[in-house]
Amino acid sequence: MNIPSNYKVLFLQGGGCGQFSAVPLNLIGLKEDRCADYLVTGTWSAKAAKEAEKYGKVNVVHPKLDSYTKIPEPSSWNLNPSASYVYYCCNETVHGVEYNFVPETNGVVLVSDMSSNFLSRPVDISKFGLIFAGAQKNVGCAGVTVVIVREDLLGRALKECPVVLDYKVQAEMNSLYNTPPCFSIYIMGLVLDWIKNNGGSAAMEMLNKQKSSMIYDIINASNGFYVCPVETACRSRMNVPFRVGKKGGDDALEKEFLDGASKRGMISLKGHRSVGGIRASLYNAVTLEDTKALADYMKEFLKEHQ
Ligand SMILES: *Cc1c(COP(=O)(O)O)cnc(C)c1O
Repeated sequence: MNIPSNYKVLFLQGGGCGQFSAVPLNLIGLKEDRCADYLVTGTWSAKAAKEAEKYGKVNVVHPKLDSYTKIPEPSSWNLNPSASYVYYCCNETVHGVEYNFVPETNGVVLVSDMSSNFLSRPVDISKFGLIFAGAQKNVGCAGVTVVIVREDLLGRALKECPVVLDYKVQAEMNSLYNTPPCFSIYIMGLVLDWIKNNGGSAAMEMLNKQKSSMIYDIINASNGFYVCPVETACRSRMNVPFRVGKKGGDDALEKEFLDGASKRGMISLKGHRSVGGIRASLYNAVTLEDTKALADYMKEFLKEHQ
């Protein structure tokens, strides 16, 4: 990941959601106003913003979105120069909305939740104050959360910050303040070796581009039989949500699609219950061959029902 030497890498517990609390507890006091800017572009950033409200003032920098299908134009963001940090979720797992640019914050500390696209593409760490990611989507199994934090941000936690969530304490103790989740860390080590031996984040990016294009191309060429509600510019390479039959989805067809997929051994394609439809998650562990099997099935299903 080319992590610069003035960053610490921590291996913590509590998942991505634990970081929704840890981030404000450690960073919202960086400036006197105890204020943070949030971009709310899906379920996960909405949850993070709600949690942060417990510890300070939260400013959502754009008008509330009525559907999570786009990223508001950066020129319309109302960033607060005295915010302690700017927060965004790099890949909204439920809605399939991904940032393919790094937000410009004019010097304010930038924080990102990369739980569902960590190590799926190269990232310039030096642009960030902090990045976190639960391991279970792209780098291992549940139980460990990676936090990459710039050293000058350590030691600024609110006094009510629980000690296990205090980045400075964990950094000084080499992530061993309390018993670490050894098994999850071991598995992550194996996955990191696998990524490295397969060409690292640049190679993962190439694969993920190929995989996601395979699915989006079918959607785009289906004459509205498959519908992805997300704006083209921010369509996720990791999570491809789509409806079957028509805009908003045809219940009977979607059920038939999922049943047919499951008969071919393709499971967990059902969209998140809050959005419905289908969601193909194409994390690093999903191979080109796996993706091709789904693509072939989608083409066949289209031919049968169009
Ligand atoms: C899954 C996910 C989370 C929540 O992770 P937990 O480990 O279940 O707390 C947070 N953010 C994003 C983007 C996720 O995909």
